[in-house]
Amino acid sequence: MSDVQEDLRPAARGAVSLDVVVVGAGLAGLYALYRLRKLGLKARAFEAGSGVGGTWFWNRYPGARCDVESLEYSYAFDDDLQQEWHWPERYGTQPEILRYINHVADRFDLRKDVQLDTRVTSAEFDPASGRWTLRTDRDDVISAPFCIMATGNLSTPRVPDFAGIHDFKGKWYHSGLWPHEGVDFTGLRVGVIGTGSSGVQMIPLIAQQASQLYVFQRTANFSLPARNGEMDPEKERTHKAEYPARRAAAWETPFAIAGHPAPTKSALDVPEAERNAQYEAKWAEGGSISFLYSYTDLLVNKEANDTASEFVRNKIRGIVKDQRTAELLAPKDHPIGTKRLCLDTNYYETYNRDNVTLVDVRSAPIERITPTGVRTGGVDYEVDAIVFATGFDAMTGALREIDIRTGNGPTLAEKWEYGPLTYLGLMVAGFPNMFIITGPGSPSVKTQMIAAIQQHMDWIADCLETMRAKGMKRIEPRAEAERDWVHHVNEVADSTLYPLANSWYLGSNIPGKPRVFMPYVGGFAGYAKRCAAVAENGYEGFVMGR
Ligand SMILES: Cc1cc2nc3c(=O)[nH]c(=O)nc-3n(C[C@H](O)[C@H](O)[C@H](O)COP(=O)(O)OP(=O)(O)OC[C@H]3O[C@@H](n4cnc5c(N)ncnc54)[C@H](O)[C@@H]3O)c2cc1C
Repeated sequence: MSDVQEDLRPAARGAVSLDVVVVGAGLAGLYALYRLRKLGLKARAFEAGSGVGGTWFWNRYPGARCDVESLEYSYAFDDDLQQEWHWPERYGTQPEILRYINHVADRFDLRKDVQLDTRVTSAEFDPASGRWTLRTDRDDVISAPFCIMATGNLSTPRVPDFAGIHDFKGKWYHSGLWPHEGVDFTGLRVGVIGTGSSGVQMIPLIAQQASQLYVFQRTANFSLPARNGEMDPEKERTHKAEYPARRAAAWETPFAIAGHPAPTKSALDVPEAERNAQYEAKWAEGGSISFLYSYTDLLVNKEANDTASEFVRNKIRGIVKDQRTAELLAPKDHPIGTKRLCLDTNYYETYNRDNVTLVDVRSAPIERITPTGVRTGGVDYEVDAIVFATGFDAMTGALREIDIRTGNGPTLAEKWEYGPLTYLGLMVAGFPNMFIITGPGSPSVKTQMIAAIQQHMDWIADCLETMRAKGMKRIEPRAEAERDWVHHVNEVADSTLYPLANSWYLGSNIPGKPRVFMPYVGGFAGYAKRCAAVAENGYEGFVMGR
């Protein structure tokens, strides 16, 4: 820990006074520091982890990598940075992305304003003084008029509450809390629980080490081939030459990703042979956006979606030799794209290995963890290690874990008892001067998230600058603006196929969590324009005060 950080430590020295306190030092927290510093504001980020990087600091499981191409999945705010950084592969690996984030922290000298190993436990706004007071698990007390929650959408790992887990004699791991020294599964019998994105990425690699791998699957997820590979130098050169235009073009798209021509036809308006040829080409190309962009209506029309879903199911049937396993792996309970679409390298092929067994825990749920393994359907699967690839308390988990309150009002967790309420995913009525980066109700996880992070933080920075110019000290959304926005978010979600899937977008993976569709699926481009218009119209829907 640096001297600067040490200065801030004991509460006995009194509250540390800042202009803006930032919670979290992932891609969002770091960009927040960069922007706030440019405004001349005194800001500091508090981060629970022992390093910067957020998602990419915590998720070190085998095969962890981004599933948006790295030339897109990177900061756009500095042209020298994007020109100079070389991504060795089409999709960056976790170590590579973490190296990039650390490079950014050093290059822009952000580290000196980050306090690591510090979890913010509470945040209270005092209406009289107009200041937030944050407390940490290390007894820091921080006071600032503004608070930015850069706490992440997928930063609260969840291990299901299986009976017997504490009696398990082997070792167990969660994909989102992976040991820094790595795990060697060579010769071990391993159980992986969960077949979402993390499971799909790690299973092929663990299978190569383990003597026996049992995959416990509750819900089959669609996965498409990533077609990862070494970066093509020509592609890199052209992409970099066109970077400014490409970044601008990304802002005009629904997912904030450029390079995929928008579809023009319905899947139902083309003959079957032509449609399948199109899917075949997209399958060969790799990547999820390109596939979902095959036709205009894959995410809004069930019949159209069925054609794409069935195409992928047939691919699975073709790859996996054992047809019972293939049928279990072929998703039938949700339309393709309505849960996070996975990208893989040899996922389905892995089930052709002799040492890999798929265990269906939909028909026979896991009864308990025994001292030596996993019991399901009365059968004991003996394992030496268990890996939970069971995901996160997504989108609201990290915020609900902090005791956030204003005066005598309800806490944020109480206000969100029946689902998150925000205006534009940026702010919450009743919680003045608290901004959320990529909060629920914003496009967030339905986009290339670094673009979404930059869009949010740029909006927040502009807002702070405007307030300063006008001598305003307080901002919060009007209750009716928040209500209308939440209504709009739901209305848009209901006009799509998304609510048909039991997904983490709906909180379905967390027992007892309210079933509310959390991301805004109206598209990044329209959303960003709406945010800009709100600002241009004098921060319409917000109340500012002195
Ligand atoms: C395995 C995986 C792969 C992904 N791949 C992609 C991809 O390909 N493309 C894409 O767009 N997105 C992807 N994502 C989403 C990814 O989370 C975002 O792209 C991005 O990293 C989010 O950055 P962030 O800073 O907002 O949040 P995070 O990276 O989650 O950082 C939040 C930080 O806040 C800290 N924090 C939380 N609460 C507290 C607290 N109370 N006190 C102190 N610190 C706290 C956490 O420790 C964490 O470090 C992926 C996510 C995962 C898990």
